[in-house]
Amino acid sequence: MLRTHTCGDLNISHLGQTVTLCGWVQKSRDLGGTTFIDMRDRYGLTQLVFNAETSDAMREVSRELGREFVIKVTGKVVERSNKNAKIATGEIEIVVAEIEILNAAKIPPFLIEDDTDGGEELRAKYRYLDLRRAPIRNNMILRHKMAQEVRKYLDGLNFIEVETPVLIKSTPEGARDFVVPSRMNPGEFYALPQSPQTFKQLLMVSGFDRYFQIVKCFRDEDLRADRQPEFTQIDCEMSFITQEDILNTFEGLARTLFKNVKGIDLIDFPRMQYADAMRLYGSDKPDVRFGMQFVEMNDLVKGKGFGVFDNAELVVGINAKGAAEYTRKQLDELTEWLKRPQIGATGLIYLRHNADGSLKSSVDKFYSEDELKKWSAAFDTQPGDLVLVLAGQTDKVRKQMNELRLEMGTRLGLRDKNTFAPLWVLDFPLLEWDEETERYHAMHHPFTSPKPQDIAMLETNPGAVRADAYDMVINGIEVGGGSIRIHDRELQALMFKHLGFSPEEAQKQFGFLMDAFEFGAPPHGGLAFGFDRLCSIFAGLDSIRDVIAFPKNNSGRDVMIDSPSTIDDKQLNELKIKTTV
Ligand code: ASP
Repeated sequence: MLRTHTCGDLNISHLGQTVTLCGWVQKSRDLGGTTFIDMRDRYGLTQLVFNAETSDAMREVSRELGREFVIKVTGKVVERSNKNAKIATGEIEIVVAEIEILNAAKIPPFLIEDDTDGGEELRAKYRYLDLRRAPIRNNMILRHKMAQEVRKYLDGLNFIEVETPVLIKSTPEGARDFVVPSRMNPGEFYALPQSPQTFKQLLMVSGFDRYFQIVKCFRDEDLRADRQPEFTQIDCEMSFITQEDILNTFEGLARTLFKNVKGIDLIDFPRMQYADAMRLYGSDKPDVRFGMQFVEMNDLVKGKGFGVFDNAELVVGINAKGAAEYTRKQLDELTEWLKRPQIGATGLIYLRHNADGSLKSSVDKFYSEDELKKWSAAFDTQPGDLVLVLAGQTDKVRKQMNELRLEMGTRLGLRDKNTFAPLWVLDFPLLEWDEETERYHAMHHPFTSPKPQDIAMLETNPGAVRADAYDMVINGIEVGGGSIRIHDRELQALMFKHLGFSPEEAQKQFGFLMDAFEFGAPPHGGLAFGFDRLCSIFAGLDSIRDVIAFPKNNSGRDVMIDSPSTIDDKQLNELKIKTTV
């Protein structure tokens, strides 16, 4: 090895030793007779000193050093007079006897420091330099640790890691496929997996019993902070299990990760019905770090002559505790925020429980003091609380109220990044009506089993059929989801029929799976975690980008390697492809 130690190793116990270190020049300070250099590698920073003990030739070399030069130094470990308690090597420095420049560096396009002056685009273009910065490097180390813990935990429970192919055909997870042309089969295309769903089910048919894979998945959808065109799942499947077994196994995985990576014991891991999540939080991924549950008010408010409430399908409110101080101006501003097209509320009504105990609402005209007291009781308000009420069509108003609840949670400081509130959401509907195509879609995916007791309703009331499907949610983020699968050809065919597939289409696309079900398929089920999301929650980040070494930007581009890009005519010809752009 070129070095005896790393830049994070040395401390007071090494005094007097002659050591050799390699690394990058973080910065250098020339104080007349003495030059100090901070030298960095993955493990830390070590201070180098060039002083009267250093030969003239070496001091000459030290003067050439710019930021990010790669150097090798040999010297003696001495105690610092000016100690730095913030870093592990802060009590010592190296008096340099020999220095060699291993590689010079151009001036970097942005500061390689924890706080950098580089904008997002610039850092993306030079991602390899951005990755030198400690915060990003630490995210990658965290991700590595999490992956190791996942493997350890699942291996310990007899799961085996099996790789599944990347060139496949469409798997329906509800997004658009990325496709790859086949040169050897002109005019034909592979699809990249949106997930290994069908393969892991086939592995259960093969008798593998317990499978997992930390695996890349590809979905061609519009990008957001928590979405990338390629992302990583912890994909899992088990045979001969009930839903309860899956919940316990993967709750165990979450608990183990929190314990071993963050030193946190997750206390509560509640389970909530999908229907309750929608009723109490207006969301299938409620942030339960804070209460502020919805209170439905139809019985309280209808029939008093207030048209907005009388004509609404649902009147619903939340108690923003301690927000009674909100001024007229703040309430107007909140109303405008709710009226933006992204949210689309028509108005906001409030009840203020004043510090002196009196109640004041924006609809005093229609509701007497006694009636407002009933509101107050329904929300259990105390002096200082502010009840916020929305009215309208049930689905819409729940969505709007979800946004308002999260916003108030943020404003009131109830969404602390270091508090973790996990839960399972259970019993999702099997199907979801799509207005655009005017047909049902599988809410999870078409291989999800309906609840046995609901199967008969597939014919009579498909929208009401519940699935054996579950999501794990942490802090309002869906981190994982899965289901008990159909393992019977007839039921799978029935499912495809309800999703609008003709028997021929179903056979063409998924015949291989239905055929497999005729050769002894075990009952099975599983789930997949979004590994990037899980890492970003652990790292306290809002975006998944910085837990991915080489992410794409919002337009799906890798600006560092400049991809996607055109290919030359020769390649297109080989693929028998003509482009029209
Ligand atoms: N394949 C599913 C997904 O990607 C997860 C599962 O059902 O196991 O969401």
